[in-house]
Amino acid sequence: MEVKQAHPGATPIFGGTDVMVDLNFGRERPETIVDLTRVPEIREWDREDEHLRVGAGVTYTRAITELGGLLPGLAMASRTVGSPQIRNRGTIGGNLGSASPAGDALPPLYASRATIEVASTRNTRRVPVREFITGPKQNTLAPDELITAFIMPEAEGPQQYAKIGTRNAMVIAVCSFGLALHPQDRTVGACIGSAGPTPIQPRDAEHFIESVFEEHDLWGSHCEIPASALERFGELVADATRPIDDVRGSADYRRHAVGVLARRTLAWAWNEYRRAS
Ligand SMILES: Cc1cc2nc3c(=O)[nH]c(=O)nc-3n(C[C@H](O)[C@H](O)[C@H](O)COP(=O)(O)OP(=O)(O)OC[C@H]3O[C@@H](n4cnc5c(N)ncnc54)[C@H](O)[C@@H]3O)c2cc1C
Repeated sequence: MEVKQAHPGATPIFGGTDVMVDLNFGRERPETIVDLTRVPEIREWDREDEHLRVGAGVTYTRAITELGGLLPGLAMASRTVGSPQIRNRGTIGGNLGSASPAGDALPPLYASRATIEVASTRNTRRVPVREFITGPKQNTLAPDELITAFIMPEAEGPQQYAKIGTRNAMVIAVCSFGLALHPQDRTVGACIGSAGPTPIQPRDAEHFIESVFEEHDLWGSHCEIPASALERFGELVADATRPIDDVRGSADYRRHAVGVLARRTLAWAWNEYRRAS
């Protein structure tokens, strides 16, 4: 924190899987780089009441191997990131720092209502992830602040993550979708990736499916979700997208595909919930 306060223009680096690409392509020429791998505390994770506090320096590989049972949605998303080398070096803190709308760690964090912990020599504050990310590659970090951790409830129900890419691995998402069932408070968390300037929480779709679950007493009866409700959920998610046309896909394709992913992931998660009960 002291180093960042003394050099507010310095670029923090952890895995370097985004920073080094920017340096190599000449997109960034920072005067100073702060190497966060020398700060062992931000590699740690621990329980905090019913939540997990996960250090910003936890890599995708560790999210899969150490946290897979506790945060299955994040582990699923982590499995889709890059290659083994990228997963070994790349961190969830780095994904938050880059704040790309295509960042694979972000939809699971939104779907479980994670908060981001940022710290400076002035104070430590926690901010909901949907307020932390403000635009494409933009977040609310002040120049003297660092991301120290994210805080997320341990999964209490099935979670899903699905991603469409132009090939099977080493690919930035054309679009993606994260979903988390929260049976204790009878809510459904959802997030659209790579189909808008930021990840998008489709609130109308969430409220719609929650009201269907209440109306049909699905949390208690464990009956199937009516096909018409699944269809409508997909439509409402598609309506919430704000996609663009780019080299990876057209806006129309993204809108359509996200609706399909939403319908499928909800059905997969719900079937897992029914089987487990
Ligand atoms: C070949 C390749 C494939 C990739 N595939 C994917 C993919 O499939 N999905 C995906 O989402 N991403 C992918 N990426 C992008 C990258 O791996 C991820 O965004 C990763 O999470 C970045 O983490 P890092 O630790 O390497 O971050 P770094 O490169 O070290 O930093 C990234 C940004 O975050 C800032 N930062 C890092 N840590 C902190 C901190 N603690 N506090 C404040 N700011 C911080 C840095 O200053 C920088 O702006 C890929 C990259 C490459 C090169």
